[in-house]
Amino acid sequence: MPRPLFATIHTAALSNNLAIARRFAPKSKIWAVVKANAYGHGLERVFTGLHSADGFGLLDLEEAVKLRELGWSGPILLLEGGGRLTDIEIIDRYSLATTVHCDEQLRMLEVARLSRPVNIQLKMNSGMNRLGYAAGKYYAAWKRARACSGIGQITLMTHFSNAEGEGGIQHQLEIFEHSANSIVGARSLSNSAATLWHPHSHFDWVRPGIMLYGASPSGILGAIQGLGLKPAMTLSSKLIAVQTVEPGEGVGYGSIFRAQQRMRIGIVACGYADGYPRCAPEGTPILVDGVRTRVVGRVSMDMLTVDLSLCPSASIGSLVELWGSNIPIDDVAVVCGTVGYELMCALAQRVPVRTE
Ligand SMILES: *Cc1c(COP(=O)(O)O)cnc(C)c1O
Repeated sequence: MPRPLFATIHTAALSNNLAIARRFAPKSKIWAVVKANAYGHGLERVFTGLHSADGFGLLDLEEAVKLRELGWSGPILLLEGGGRLTDIEIIDRYSLATTVHCDEQLRMLEVARLSRPVNIQLKMNSGMNRLGYAAGKYYAAWKRARACSGIGQITLMTHFSNAEGEGGIQHQLEIFEHSANSIVGARSLSNSAATLWHPHSHFDWVRPGIMLYGASPSGILGAIQGLGLKPAMTLSSKLIAVQTVEPGEGVGYGSIFRAQQRMRIGIVACGYADGYPRCAPEGTPILVDGVRTRVVGRVSMDMLTVDLSLCPSASIGSLVELWGSNIPIDDVAVVCGTVGYELMCALAQRVPVRTE
């Protein structure tokens, strides 16, 4: 019998979430961000649900080529740009747009032999301090890019570090506006959080990622409640065994959970080798036989253990939802000290995936 664990990707949820992004930014075009294999969902699996996007943003050249092979002829943007001259050949061959965040990348486009000009997003470091030209050097970089015959359209771009939090975007927005003030050209600034919560940052293109997958940019589920976003992934399994333990008996490695009274424990076919976080503490929510209950004991490689006190009718074969529409991925993430992004990206290769 194969393991009952599988993930389901919901095409209708992806389309729904893209439509919500459009409703929030009605005047902007949308780069659907599908980096990291579409946040773990699988590029080819999300393509149908997201094909009405105006473009796709990602990092890997291989993923960009895969999108072309799936039949996408519209814009594709490399969010970090290329690092080698051979990257430029692929950028040229597959008509990719690329980010330029430093002189080395600009230089590559200046010396490359291209069959047609490459569209770029010229990135300003407005305060994130990862990638991009310093505000004071931005105008000079833009002038240099404009003088380069290998460069076509130049979109002005920056990325926010606190769009989902209290810091907000105002400070970065002011730096960007000030330094790009005299430059005419399309602008692209907003991730999901800015798309949802900072309408004055929308401009010509927005770049939502996490919201398309139905999870929260802040890692706090409450933040997206009521917006109508739907989870694009369900991780499901079944109980493969049930144990009855006596008071004082331990469960799993390290016996970190001990029963206080006689109770039933369900064994779920899902562990950290499947991408479920090993750090999930006692009390992590999980749905068993339609009932929200809790993980108890240490998550092991291929299994985890759950409290069946609230699930009297649960038995071998009972359905389990690790995350999905009943157990928001953000609820699991938050007790693990992380965000939904990390959990979905960590879904292991060995987990079979279905699309519906
Ligand atoms: C990942 C990424 C996004 C999308 O961010 P979300 O928080 O998932 O919406 C947008 N822009 C850039 C440059 C990114 O790297």
